[in-house]
Amino acid sequence: MRALGEEGYRARQIFQGIYKQGQSDCSQFTNLPLRLREKLNHRFVIKLLERQEEYLSADGTIKYVFKLSDGNYIETVVIPSGVRQTVCLSTQVGCKFRCAFCASGLKGFKRNLSAGEIVSQVLILKHQLNHQINNLVFMGMGEPLDNLHEVIKAIRILNDKQGMDIGARRITVSTAGIVPGIKKLKDLNLQINLSISIHSPFDRQRTELMPINQKYPLAELVAAAEDYLKGSGRQLTLEYILIKNFNDRLYEAEGLAAIARRLKAKVNLIAYSPVSNLPYVRPGQEEMQRFQKWLEERKVRTTVRKSKGLDIAAACGQLTGRLK
Ligand code: SF4
Repeated sequence: MRALGEEGYRARQIFQGIYKQGQSDCSQFTNLPLRLREKLNHRFVIKLLERQEEYLSADGTIKYVFKLSDGNYIETVVIPSGVRQTVCLSTQVGCKFRCAFCASGLKGFKRNLSAGEIVSQVLILKHQLNHQINNLVFMGMGEPLDNLHEVIKAIRILNDKQGMDIGARRITVSTAGIVPGIKKLKDLNLQINLSISIHSPFDRQRTELMPINQKYPLAELVAAAEDYLKGSGRQLTLEYILIKNFNDRLYEAEGLAAIARRLKAKVNLIAYSPVSNLPYVRPGQEEMQRFQKWLEERKVRTTVRKSKGLDIAAACGQLTGRLK
């Protein structure tokens, strides 16, 4: 990826200082030549996200609510896992796609985040709140491939040696299945991980959960994913939210296993995280294990993703960007 160059390197150091000290422009850095300070102030807009609220889960997950400069709110989640910390980033305020199980889309879409606002989530966590970040997942509020231009810009900055230097293999972009976005990602040939939220192997059922399936049905989505993987050596993950008495039966496991085997994908099973006013039911441990067993019997590598941050509404599909 393109290096930031000497000027970018200086700018990075300055921005880190700004984030540590909560300043909003370069004027205070009197050890820099005046002309450089003026140039930086002229060329860069520095708007820090404001940390508005913070929730700590019993399992160690922390959810931050940040205020954007236009008064909108987003949520960013830090998930501890041993010595590692994974950060779940938001890419939009709200979401257009209205998946039936997800709180982020309930209030509709407000706007895309800029690359700066996406990177700022990481900068604040690292430089102001001293988190040791190892992995980034684009799975917070919004659909990353619906804001691909800014997401790619942010990934380049986060990945660049002179930026945040987070390895591409430690960055995962998750999509509800935006086929043109998957094609663009393939053309860009980034070494990041891709994860597709599949949630059902059948079009009718998937459309009920994810209306985007009407536009990009499973056959098209699976073909795009297959093409994305061709010759790249990349791995794909299929996310499957298990909902009790909805998509947790044997024939759904069989359908999912067929897709996973075709894509040589790993399946991440996630128990549905309750959202108030939604009719779905969270499965128990038993149903989760049974579904996992069915997949494994069909030679599909399956992990059960522990729901973290359930008690602070920071788990999958629970982020709303709302204050308490
Ligand atoms: S699951 Fe993702 S794409 Fe669907 S409504 Fe929620 S944020 Fe949007």
